Amino acid sequence: MNTIKDIIDKPIFTKEELILLLSSEKEDKQLIFSKATEIKAEYVGRKVYFRGLIEFSNKCRKNCFYCGIRAGNNIINRYEVSEEEVIDAVKYAYENNYGSIVLQAGERNDRQFVETISNILKKIKKIANGKLGITLSLGEQTEKTYRKWMENGAHRYLLRIETSNPDLYKKLHPDDDGHRFEIRLECLQLLKKIGYQVGTGVMIGLPFQTIEHLADDLLFFKEFDVDMVGMGPYIEHEQTPLYQYKDQLINKTNRFNLSLKMIAILRIMMKDINIAATTAMQTLDPAGREKALKVGANIIMPNLTPVKYRENYLLYEDKPCIDEEASECKNCLEARIKIAGDEIGYGEWGDSKHFANKK
Ligand code: SAM
Ligand code: SF4
Repeated sequence: MNTIKDIIDKPIFTKEELILLLSSEKEDKQLIFSKATEIKAEYVGRKVYFRGLIEFSNKCRKNCFYCGIRAGNNIINRYEVSEEEVIDAVKYAYENNYGSIVLQAGERNDRQFVETISNILKKIKKIANGKLGITLSLGEQTEKTYRKWMENGAHRYLLRIETSNPDLYKKLHPDDDGHRFEIRLECLQLLKKIGYQVGTGVMIGLPFQTIEHLADDLLFFKEFDVDMVGMGPYIEHEQTPLYQYKDQLINKTNRFNLSLKMIAILRIMMKDINIAATTAMQTLDPAGREKALKVGANIIMPNLTPVKYRENYLLYEDKPCIDEEASECKNCLEARIKIAGDEIGYGEWGDSKHFANKK
């Protein structure tokens, strides 16, 4: 049988090989991590790009079983950041050379929401003289809406598939037309067709999820030929239906380690894509994002949401940095990135090299 060392040097991995890599421990795991660090340095460089994150609204029409801001959670206060506050956050990002911002929110598709986002996009372009890259993470929308938002200035879109296994997807969502795996997939295909840099991702350590599912997720990213991936551990939230399975989850240390392995293996498989070191990584380990950067991630999303709204955007328990002002957040991240041995690509969009290389 092939050793881990033989496998990581192969040009492509089979599902069986991925299962072996995901199950590795100790020296074997370290071999994977070192290989991923090497590949990151060679193919995307040791630069980390900032995406200032604006959690624009927690109003959501959906009821995903894992998410703390699902429509059915009536304990939280619903908010929408005002246009002025968005503009202030954008100015902060621009003046501090962040390079890009991400606009994220619960999913809505009413006309007013679509128009509000369009107006904000146009304003962002104007204020930043077209110099800030814009990523959207606003869920499933029609082709018309995706096109409109692109015309208004967005060029990257993040829509996690959550899991590439349709049966598991069903267990994580209500069984209705608002939560169909096929529609999720169609949206991802639309985004690609329209010309966005497309990002997707999964949660790791979900109830009912197996190592085989995760191996399939990695194969899905490769097969779909994604430009960007944001993935991280699933973290339970008391006010959600999945909370009842909390005792069946793998423990948080193992969930964190599995997430690191997913990032490292993906970096080896897809050498020139952008991979985010997600906030959920830091929730499970105070140095989680630095560790993710070390094993292949190259994107960080400092939070620019006005502090007063943050306690109402709790997707999961113990979300970090909910009371840090943007400037504190920036200083803290700068130090963390230095520790990881990387530098920040200030003022650069840091687009997916994979997207450019495909053309
Ligand atoms: N509503 C949009 C959507 O669903 O694509 C964007 C916002 S949604 C809050 C962003 C991501 O949060 C989801 O894709 C999901 O993977 C993640 N998320 C939600 N609940 C989570 C949890 N309990 N643990 C970890 N990640 C979670
Ligand atoms: Fe809404 Fe997104 Fe949360 Fe699902 S994951 S409930 S769509 S915010």
